[in-house]
Amino acid sequence: MTKMIDIQHRKKTFGENEVLKDISATVNKGQVICIIGPSGSGKSTFLRCLNVLEHPTAGKIVFDGTDLASLKDGKELDQLREKMGMVFQNFNLFPNMNVIENVKLAPMKVKGVSEKEAEQKGLELLEKVGLADRAKQFPASLSGGQQQRVAIARALAMDPEVMLFDEPTSALDPEMVGEILKTMQDLANSGMTMVIVTHEMGFAREVADEIWFMADGYLQEKGTPEEVFEHPTSDRAKDFLSKVL
Ligand code: ADP
Ligand code: MG
Repeated sequence: MTKMIDIQHRKKTFGENEVLKDISATVNKGQVICIIGPSGSGKSTFLRCLNVLEHPTAGKIVFDGTDLASLKDGKELDQLREKMGMVFQNFNLFPNMNVIENVKLAPMKVKGVSEKEAEQKGLELLEKVGLADRAKQFPASLSGGQQQRVAIARALAMDPEVMLFDEPTSALDPEMVGEILKTMQDLANSGMTMVIVTHEMGFAREVADEIWFMADGYLQEKGTPEEVFEHPTSDRAKDFLSKVL
C-alpha cells in the first residue's frame, strides 16, 4: 500500500487546552477512513491539521514527501493544500455566485485553467453529483443537500488526491442525508482517498476501510469497522458506542 498522509506524534493545544495529545496514523492511497468520537474530542481540529488550516503545536504530517507542519503559510503550502479537497458541515458556497461559477472559480484562479475547460469539467462534475440542470442557479435557491453536493463538486474540481469531509451531513434535514451519503459512497467506489468525520455509524460501517475512534486527545481505537464496532477494546469506545449504536 502506498502511504498518502503520514501523521507522526501530532499535537495541538489552544492555550491551556491540549486538544490533540499525541496522534500517529497513516492514510494510504485509496483508503476510506471514518473518524468517530464524542463532540469536542478534537475531530475537526484533527482534520484541519491535516491540511494545515490549523498549524500544529508539534509533530509531523508528511504528504507527498513533504512535512506540511514544517512549512509556513505561503506558496509551497498552498500548492500542497490544493491537493486536499475539503467539504464542511455548512457547505460554505459563495452566495453571490451561481453553481457553475462556484465550481469553476478555484481551477481558474488558482490553477490557471481556461474558463472553457473549467466550465466543461465543472459541468461534468455537476452531472456526476446529479445537478447538471442547476448550473445557473444560486446557492440560496437550492436545498441543503443540493448545496452540499455542489460543495463536493467544487472540491473535486481541483483534482484532489484526497478528500476531507467534516460532518458533511450534520447540518442537513434528515431526508437529505441519504443523497450526500450516496454521493460519498460513489466517490469511495471510484477509488478516491477519503477521510470523513461523521456521526453516521451505518455509513461508516459500510464504507470505511478503517474506523478511527477519537477521544480525550488520542486515537483510542483504529481498526476495521468490524473490529471497532463489534469488539472495541477501550472503555471510552465501549461507552461511546453503547450510546450511538
Ligand atoms: P470535535 O470536532 O470533535 O467536536 P473540535 O476539534 O471542534 O472537536 O474541538 C476540540 C476542542 O478544541 C474543543 O474544546 C474546542 O473548544 C477547542 N477548539 C477548537 N478550535 C479552537 C480554536 N480555534 N481556538 C480555541 N479552541 C479551539
Ligand atoms: Mg467537529
